[in-house]
Amino acid sequence: MDFTELTAPELRCLLQKKEITAREVTIFFLQRCKEINPKLNAYLALFEEEALKQAQMVDRKIKEKEPLGLLAGIPLAIKDNICLKDFVTSCASKILENFYSPYNATVIDRIRTQDAIILGKTNMDEFAMGSSNENSYFGPVRNPWDLSKVPGGSSGGSAAVVASDLALAALGSDTGGSIRQPASFCGVVGLKPTYGRVSRYGLVAFASSLDQIGPISKNVKDCALLLQVIAGQDVNDSTSVNLAVPDFLSCLDGNIRGLKIGVPKEYFSATGREGIEPDVERAVKKAILDLESLGVRVEEISLPHTEYAIAVYYLVATAEASSNLARYDGVRYGYRSSNHTNLLEMYKNSRSEGFGTEVKRRIMLGTYALSSGYYEAYYQKAQQVRALIRKDFEEAFKKVDCLVTPTSPTVAFKFGERVEDPLSMYLADVFTVSVNLAGLPAISIPCGFSENELPVGWQIIGKLFDEETVLKVAYAYEQTTEWHKKKTCGLGI
Ligand code: GLN
Repeated sequence: MDFTELTAPELRCLLQKKEITAREVTIFFLQRCKEINPKLNAYLALFEEEALKQAQMVDRKIKEKEPLGLLAGIPLAIKDNICLKDFVTSCASKILENFYSPYNATVIDRIRTQDAIILGKTNMDEFAMGSSNENSYFGPVRNPWDLSKVPGGSSGGSAAVVASDLALAALGSDTGGSIRQPASFCGVVGLKPTYGRVSRYGLVAFASSLDQIGPISKNVKDCALLLQVIAGQDVNDSTSVNLAVPDFLSCLDGNIRGLKIGVPKEYFSATGREGIEPDVERAVKKAILDLESLGVRVEEISLPHTEYAIAVYYLVATAEASSNLARYDGVRYGYRSSNHTNLLEMYKNSRSEGFGTEVKRRIMLGTYALSSGYYEAYYQKAQQVRALIRKDFEEAFKKVDCLVTPTSPTVAFKFGERVEDPLSMYLADVFTVSVNLAGLPAISIPCGFSENELPVGWQIIGKLFDEETVLKVAYAYEQTTEWHKKKTCGLGI
């Protein structure tokens, strides 16, 4: 049986009816992974033995008529910056290449409790810093739609495995767009929850005030299901919020009549290299018209501080990263250089040999922005403008229920195209970073294809803790299109 056409609830239902077994499903996906992953480099590790053990447990539960978890038998992939006990959590960095996590992230415990099957860990930009997956110590991931193009980043591995049916869904992390932008480049669905909705315990920290874990899936329903499982307060993360988790599946009724949708004019007016590609603009504008035909009211709104978002993000994120990454010193974690004659040299050489170029660039930028004499001019100023960006959204949400924008100004680009010019790479996040700065929830869903057959995604942004409206609108739109059903080509299978 071909399991790639099934949604998570459909698969679970077939298991329950004993038409299929979790073992069959797991073997099917592992087999595909072994065949196809060498072309993509999307998985860093596959856990064959462990996955089959989990499948056996699910099959036993079914046989003995024990209650089944919400994710029973669902094969999932996990970004390699999320800790999985007794397995390597490398963050795609040489410095953590041999780091075996001694504990599980909270999201791992939650999906395991619901009987999910973890197939493996996915490739990413080193420490989640990047927009193309070219910053991985273990080599780049290829885009399954066109192997000469990047899959986006930093959760490019997770997006690529979902797009090529090497897992039913995946977990990624999003600090400035790392779930949504690769989802958009790979033609899948990716959601960044509200800051505080999902526990960050066991997520290797990049920029702690921005990071969130979220689902990547083939359709909105699976995305809602995965969010349902991972959301909720956690005593191990004091920034997770004590709020009841709504029933995200029950809000997917397709009825969005009467909702007010805002279109931020600044997202369409940028010019030059920050501007939107015509194919992206066309697809997103068409999607807005389609949404209107479902009975919503669309109005133009303004987010006046949008132009500062990239600058603010790259100050706040690098400042936090420079502090978070100070712990990798060759003593407590990971790689230690053998080339040293004293302690200071050991620290220095372990870090300079263990970290890649982009990570070092960010540590230096962040250290500079926090240094005495510059702190007020850079870091503090960035925090003040961050407050203004947040306020822009608060004002907008007094008038509308959610906002729609393109996810990224372009479709997937070629390998090497932006590597020499970090600023052009940073601009890939121009439409996603504000959402993290304001802590809001946002989803990217497919809305068409460019002329050269690459997926285009658009973004729906909601009010704080209003993932329900985001999912509801995404689902209603998805029901009217076939974009999410189109399969990747170019893999020779
Ligand atoms: N591409 C952005 C960066 O490099 C976002 C990364 C992320 O969300 N983890 O910082």
